Order: sequence, then C-alpha cells, then structure tokens
Amino acid sequence: MAKIQMTTPIVEMDGDEMTRILWKMIKDKLILPFIDLKSEYYDLGLENREKTKDQVTIDSAEATKKYGVAVKCATITPNAERVKEYNLTQMWKSPNGTIRAILDGTVFRTPILVKGITPYISNWKKPITIARHAYGDVYKNTEMVVSEGSKAELIVTDKYGNETRQLIHEFKGSDGIIQGLHNVDKSIGSFARACFNFALDKKEDLWFATKDTISKKYDHRFKDIFNEIFEKEYKEKFEKAGITYFYTLIDDAVARVVRSEGGYIWACKNYDGDVMSDMVATAFGSLAMMTSVLVSPDGIYEYEAAHGTVQRHYYKYLNGESTSTNSVATLFAWSGALRKRGELDGNTALSDYADKLEKATIATIEDGIMTGDLYLLSSLENKKKVDSETFLDEINKRLTALMA
Ligand code: NAP
Ligand code: MG
Repeated sequence: MAKIQMTTPIVEMDGDEMTRILWKMIKDKLILPFIDLKSEYYDLGLENREKTKDQVTIDSAEATKKYGVAVKCATITPNAERVKEYNLTQMWKSPNGTIRAILDGTVFRTPILVKGITPYISNWKKPITIARHAYGDVYKNTEMVVSEGSKAELIVTDKYGNETRQLIHEFKGSDGIIQGLHNVDKSIGSFARACFNFALDKKEDLWFATKDTISKKYDHRFKDIFNEIFEKEYKEKFEKAGITYFYTLIDDAVARVVRSEGGYIWACKNYDGDVMSDMVATAFGSLAMMTSVLVSPDGIYEYEAAHGTVQRHYYKYLNGESTSTNSVATLFAWSGALRKRGELDGNTALSDYADKLEKATIATIEDGIMTGDLYLLSSLENKKKVDSETFLDEINKRLTALMA
C-alpha cells in the first residue's frame, strides 16, 4: 500500500513520561506505516527544555505560527519536586502557558464518546466542547486581608494623572478581605473571535454566559464585546452555516447544559471554564478521553490530550511492569492535527486517513478491547482489559482493514 503524502509539515512537540512512551508507540504503529510523515520535530521533554534553557518551547510555538498546525504531547510543568528529580537550574514555566501566550489562543476541550461508557448525565448524546478564556480575572488578581476599621477603595489613575475613586467597603466591626480583578478588551475580543471561528469550523452552535445582571460593568463588557463582534463579523457566516450564537446568564446556562443533549460549544469566562471543564469531563466519563485544541484568533491550531504525563504509569513502565495507559486522547490529537493539515492543504487522502484512525480507535473500544481506565467504566458485557501496546495493535488491525 502506498503511503499518503504530505505537502506541508505539521509541528511535532514531543513530551514527557508515559505520554512520551505512548507518543513513539502511536507513531510507530499507527502513523508511520500509513503516512509519509512530514513534521518539524521539537523535543519539549523536560531534559531538553533544561538543556535549551526553554528556548525549544519558544521555537516550537514560532514554528506553529509558521506552519499553522501542531500536535503536542503532554509535558511536565515543573514544581519543587521536579526541580530536584530532573536537577533543573530553574523552575521552567508551563510549556502550555508559554505556547498560549505566543499564539494568543483559546483552549477548546471536547470529550470522545463511545458506546458502553455512558455519561453520568444520561441525556448527553453528543459532546459538549468547553472553551475557556485563559486570561485575567481571578487568575491575575490582587488581594488583601483587611483589618477592622479600614476603608477599601478602588482608585484608577488615568494617563493624564486624573484619579477616579470608588468605595469598595468600610470594614466596621469585622476584619475582612478584598480582591482586585481585571481583564482587557483585546483579550476578550480574541477569545470571542476564536470561539466564533471554532463554531464555524465545527458547524456547532456557540453558547456564552456571564453574570451580567449582577456585574453590570465587568461581566457586561464581556457580553457587549461578544455581541458587537458577532453582529459585525460573524452573523452572516453563522446564518450561512445554519448555526446560532446564544447568550444567557451563567446560572441559566448551567441548567440548560444539564438538560441538553450536547452538541455545542460552551464559551466560559476563565473561572467558569476552569470549574465547568472538570465537571463536564467527569460527567462524560474519563479525562483520558478528553481532547484539547488551542486555537488562535488568526486560525492556528495546536492539538493535544487534556490529561498530563500519567506519571504513576511511567514509574511502573520504568520498573518493567506492564501498563494499561489510555492513548485515545493523544491519538485524537494526532488525527485532529493531520485532518486540519489535510483541510488546509486540500489533501483529502490525509483527512480521510484521520477520520479512519478515529473510527478504528472507537471501533476497538466498542468491540470490547480497552485500557484499564475504560474497563472500569464500560458497561459492555464482553469487555477485555489490554496493555498499552496491545490496544494500539488492535487499532492497527482495524485501521489496516479500513485503509485497504
Ligand atoms: P495526569 O497525568 O493527567 O494523571 C492523573 C491520573 O489520571 C493518573 O495517575 C491516572 O490515574 C489518570 N490518567 C490520566 N490520563 C490517563 C491515561 N491516558 N490513561 C489512563 N489513566 C490516566 O495528571 P497529574 O498526575 O496531575 O500530572 C502528571 C504530570 O503531568 C505533571 O507533571 C503535570 O505537570 C503534567 N500535566 C501536563 C499537562 C499538559 O501537558 N497538558 C496537563 C496536566 C498535567 P491512575 O494513576 O489512578 O491510573
Ligand atoms: Mg480545573
């Protein structure tokens, strides 16, 4: 069988621990036998980040800007423990944070649904994608503990030196706490555009919600910016695509999400997205079945799994023990990137391959062959738990049949 050719490379960002082991297995068993892979390889493994003083992360993000599509393996975000373990000269920043800052992107997380693993919310029939605004609010806050008898005010000095003051609270009879938050129109606008573009890409409705009835300036600004951009730039495109933009209050949104059957994109402010993405991921079944894509406002895509490097499994692997680690989200990162590359290059053979890779993966699980995490959740009767490698071999069998 002739291998599928690629015209433009994708950016390949390798990573750490168990996912790095899976990365190579996936390539060897499911990508390289079928595709004449063109990729620009960046090793984002912690050792190489240390060796390059983290320049490799910046280079990989710049390359993503150049080529437009990247696929990323999970990476360690160093903490004090990791600094010791890897003998680091610095506590390097989260690669995802660095890449997101360079691409100015929004993260979209979508669960992969399979028969036998029913969402805890039984009326959810289609995936719900969560888009989280990744800038500002409580994640860039200034906060203080305030003693009884204090008066807290909000003071803004404009560029001409004029002051505006507003009372926050007079602390009479009790100590207390205060918090200062901010966001910027530019970031909110980028977030809105990334969401509108992604909705058009997926041909799914877009929902957005804030608490604008209570927060009449702060949250209302989010609502207004979304609305202005939609009316000016996207309304017609949405009509043509047969999809809608729907705004409501956050509490109403939560109620509607639970009652819905899924199949839409839910744009969330930073904190809402943090909380709701964990709720949605858990309700759909497993973090190992959650894909993630970073989309920049100018249409650059970086695909990855939502989970981390699965450290505990890696130590088992290093001990020579058999592992049963789920590679599905990482696999779907590859298929997502290759499908997008195919779409951008008009390479239908490549996009078709990506569809078949996903089909073969889902068919394997629905045939009852799965890794340990899914085995615990699946309601299939003839289910069988297999190790990391056997799972990929089984997908290979089905993919080979589909490609023939
Ligand atoms: P994690 O790697 O997602 O793993 C947490 C637990 O979830 C695992 O121990 C495992 O449970 C289960 N799990 C996650 N993915 C799985 C899979 N594919 N197959 C089977 N089980 C899976 O999160 P973590 O342990 O908090 O973080 C480990 C490292 O990953 C950290 O250094 C962190 O910095 C990094 N991280 C990176 C990213 C990223 O690059 N995007 C995201 C998150 C975390 P059991 O052990 O019970 O089997
Ligand atoms: Mg969270």
